[in-house]
Amino acid sequence: MDFVDACYHTQTYFKAYENLILPMNGMELWDITNMPPCVPPSYSKQPGRPRKARMKEVGECSKKANVVTKVQDSLRCGQCGRNGHNKRTCHRNLPPKTKIKKRKAKFIIFCLILVNYSNK
Ligand SMILES: [Zn+2]
Repeated sequence: MDFVDACYHTQTYFKAYENLILPMNGMELWDITNMPPCVPPSYSKQPGRPRKARMKEVGECSKKANVVTKVQDSLRCGQCGRNGHNKRTCHRNLPPKTKIKKRKAKFIIFCLILVNYSNK
């Protein structure tokens, strides 16, 4: 019994491709027939913006080998040179803290109270 159809046989394949199709140098060399002319399929413009990048094949590599990407390891300040912040958020640009002044004032009042207390 033969389970494979004749169209899948190698002999059929070789028979189908045994005639050579030679390239031609232009449409002027085509044979003129009474058949309707060969025209490209009709095209209708699709909605939306046309793509700029070509759609990649399934097996095609998706890595951008030739594109150099800017990779930043960590933030580095241009003002003080420390890591972790940039020039804009540098501690040098911050206004002086008022808490220190308050603490100092409290300490002075505390000292005055102590002096007062010890004198009595
Ligand atoms: Zn800084």
